[in-house]
Amino acid sequence: MPNLAYVGQVITVYPIHGADRIESLEVVCGKGGRWRGTAKKSEFAVGELCEVYLQDALLPQTERYAFLEQRGWRVRMMRLRGVPSECLIMPLTEDTQGLEPGTDITELAGVTKYEKPLPANIGGDIRGNFPPFIPKTDEPNFQSVPAMIEALVGQPFYATVKADGSSGTIFWDDDGVVRACSRNFELKDGPTTAVWQLVRKYDLARHRLPVALQFEIVGPGIQKNALGLKEVDLRLFNVWRIDQRRYLDFDDMLAVAQSLGLPMVELVEIGDSFGLKDDEALRQYAERTYTNGATAEGVVIRPMKETRVNGERLSFKVINLLYRD
Ligand code: ATP
Ligand code: MN
Repeated sequence: MPNLAYVGQVITVYPIHGADRIESLEVVCGKGGRWRGTAKKSEFAVGELCEVYLQDALLPQTERYAFLEQRGWRVRMMRLRGVPSECLIMPLTEDTQGLEPGTDITELAGVTKYEKPLPANIGGDIRGNFPPFIPKTDEPNFQSVPAMIEALVGQPFYATVKADGSSGTIFWDDDGVVRACSRNFELKDGPTTAVWQLVRKYDLARHRLPVALQFEIVGPGIQKNALGLKEVDLRLFNVWRIDQRRYLDFDDMLAVAQSLGLPMVELVEIGDSFGLKDDEALRQYAERTYTNGATAEGVVIRPMKETRVNGERLSFKVINLLYRD
């Protein structure tokens, strides 16, 4: 189970203009990151410890969490009266009393993960496990990777719009044969399997590159098709050199995309020097729309040249708090 709940410590309390029953708190959860959430007024003082439930935590269906029943027991990120509400903050219980800030309490609290439902064409018949020599796609939330933000400040960077679909990977094996994967599995070829439709759409079998292409599968029936597409398509965001075990830099990724005729995720900006150090500035930067005018899910920000921070790829997402999935 991923880390979805922590013991946190309240570091700041902010009033919410026009609200007399709730207030906004900033909490730190050690390696779990620094988040903004809301709580009943005067429930917590600065310095106090609390339980923090993050995005997509599915809470136990008990009296204690019954106020979230109408929301399907799921923690979501949003703005409340203009104030960020990224996590649920609750008092410690007998079970969590005495634990250090930063302690993962996901299992202790009985929390599981909300998984978005996948349409049938994203799955398909499984051929095997996801290849171990290609990293699975994922992006950390900016709130949990302050060292990445620090490392990016002052560096050339690019930001792309986060497309809300489903992750896909296509690569060529040692025999030059095209293989295709969903987020967690390699899939057998099938006429209705989306990732294989994309292999055909872009005629990828006639190429042979030592890379894995990673992209979001988007289109009708996939999530809410926020991009408003008429047919299944992809939006490329990673090119991984299998033989060199590294991601290509932005310029080289773009060159691969152009040579294969593949659309990239939409570019927000290429900048000479990253300067969004402030959490609220980052959140506002992520409040964008897709080209069709629909609210976008957020942005992903990276250095122009691939960089590692504490052994992890420097790349993070900023979720748009105005987005509803
Ligand atoms: P969850 O973490 O809830 O299981 P997830 O890992 O599929 O879901 P997120 O962690 O929210 O999704 O976001 C990361 C994913 O976003 C990537 O794995 C990729 O599939 C997708 N994605 C969409 N657009 C982009 C983009 N512009 N850059 C990078 N990744 C993107
Ligand atoms: Mn993820």
